[in-house]
Amino acid sequence: MHVRFWGARGSLATPGPTTVRYGGNTSCVEITTPGGALIIIDCGTGIRGLGQHLLATGPKTLKGHILISHTHWDHIHGIPFFGPFFEAGNEWDLYAPKGVRQSLRDALEGQMQYSYFPVQLDELGAEIRYHELVEGAFRIADATIRTRYLNHPALTFGYRIEAEGAAVVYASDHEPHSRHLADGIGEIGGEDLRHCEFLAGADLVIHDAQYIAEEYPQKFGWGHSTVEYAVAVCRAAGVKRVALTHHDPSRDDDAIDRIVTKARADLRHVASAMEVMAATEGAALSIKGEDQRADRAERNESAISEASALGNLLILMAVTDRSAAETLLDAAHADQVAVVETRSADALLCAIAEKLPSLIVLEKKEGTSDPLELCTKIRSLQRAHDVPIIVVADTEDCQRGITAGVTDWLIRPFSIAYARTRLRAWLLRTAARWVRAPLPPDEEQRLATLHSLGILDTPEEQRFDRLTRLAAAILRVPVALVSLVDRERQWFKSAHGMEVRQTPRETSFCAHAVAARELLVVPDAFADHRFADNPQVSGRTRVRFYAGCPLFVGQSCVGTLCVLDVRPRQLSLEEVGLLKDVAALVERELQQSEAHPSAR
Ligand SMILES: [Zn+2]
Ligand SMILES: [Zn+2]
Repeated sequence: MHVRFWGARGSLATPGPTTVRYGGNTSCVEITTPGGALIIIDCGTGIRGLGQHLLATGPKTLKGHILISHTHWDHIHGIPFFGPFFEAGNEWDLYAPKGVRQSLRDALEGQMQYSYFPVQLDELGAEIRYHELVEGAFRIADATIRTRYLNHPALTFGYRIEAEGAAVVYASDHEPHSRHLADGIGEIGGEDLRHCEFLAGADLVIHDAQYIAEEYPQKFGWGHSTVEYAVAVCRAAGVKRVALTHHDPSRDDDAIDRIVTKARADLRHVASAMEVMAATEGAALSIKGEDQRADRAERNESAISEASALGNLLILMAVTDRSAAETLLDAAHADQVAVVETRSADALLCAIAEKLPSLIVLEKKEGTSDPLELCTKIRSLQRAHDVPIIVVADTEDCQRGITAGVTDWLIRPFSIAYARTRLRAWLLRTAARWVRAPLPPDEEQRLATLHSLGILDTPEEQRFDRLTRLAAAILRVPVALVSLVDRERQWFKSAHGMEVRQTPRETSFCAHAVAARELLVVPDAFADHRFADNPQVSGRTRVRFYAGCPLFVGQSCVGTLCVLDVRPRQLSLEEVGLLKDVAALVERELQQSEAHPSAR
């Protein structure tokens, strides 16, 4: 891969005699894949020069892909000045994090309104396609792109680009999740560790390093890293080379020299072979990979988001500090996210049992019960195993928090804007990573039929168990279920090979079969964007193969007979026929329940 920096300045373009060497243009990086695909990351003012260069030296019609980390000005300001957008025949694909209620196009259109700029977005000559992303992976030509949310006051992605065994990561703008890591010392845990995993083994990481540790106490919550943090996480991640970027506008060339000299001396001191440099406008690097990273190749869950993914978002909140609670409520309501407030631990646990939230917010406060104990209790509930939990506190308690299953800390005091970003990032993570099944049009009638069977929550019965046993044996799978899809859950009348009796409807594969009223076969859940990040796939159950045949009572589809495997596989036509045959037998038993609801 070839990498060239067109802008490395943070926040505001800063041209002038003191920034000549590292450059004054804001963020823009050009990457050319081994197969020749053009990928541009961020559209700060640096993209203008890149545009001129492409027009002068590139092919007659230009095609390329632009990854936008987020829509703060210093990352999109160059868009109206990117020459190749104005030429008909050119084709550009734009990618950015999916907003909660605002589309990428709306956000970009905003900065090109007539009072700011004379040409409107839809008057550009080139064909521009917009892609909204969630966390995951997708392909551009011969490269795999992985996305990960960073810690910044706007929804921001880090991008990892892998091709021919080489990996380049762009991670700007990003603040340490844990405040104490800003000086680069201390154990890396929790979300910072996940950040390290995203950087792991990269040949080049282009990392936010706007501040130095001694400036950080005045910059807390501004969403940027220190040089010390960038170097520490990259070193822990086994990165080969770091390019520090998003240079503070107040930093002149000599100051950047001093930063690099010190970082190199510190690395020598600990005998680290990692290279460190400052991203420099105009500098070009050739990146060659050493290994093929076969282990990473397997999971390619789609990052291209589905419109249906953002369904009913719900935050469950147990925060007594009114000022923090009001700020969180305002932040949630700004994105039209429903919030249910609970007063006690018991009430919170009841609420979780009633409706699975997308996010839980707890509070650590003198004189109130320990939120970490409550967190442990929530984690022990099967259905809430994967729900993100944020704890509002005055200081973080990292080690205990990790053990208890805390996902993130929100340190008081915080602004509405900051709270909104944290809530959004976590909501999108859970809400947009797999596709929930739509509700069937006859939902109420369907539920009435299901409930009229009087079968839910009844004991196991041989007449069903022998059929799941049979299905598992003839299809040679470890698990077969009679799954009845209730309002909020799927409940298993019979479960061969599985101990769990019910799981949330949210994560249910069967709910898809019920909504479609037809046989659903998922040969490999990892390769299916609807299911790749479903907790049933990524979590403890590890479903990899699924086939579910709908079960009808009258006109209502009440559930499925389904089979699961932990390995990907296919069903032959004959096997599909056999599954349908057994499902017909299950239907007959259900119809008998209908005739005699209490029959055993
Ligand atoms: Zn920025
Ligand atoms: Zn920013």
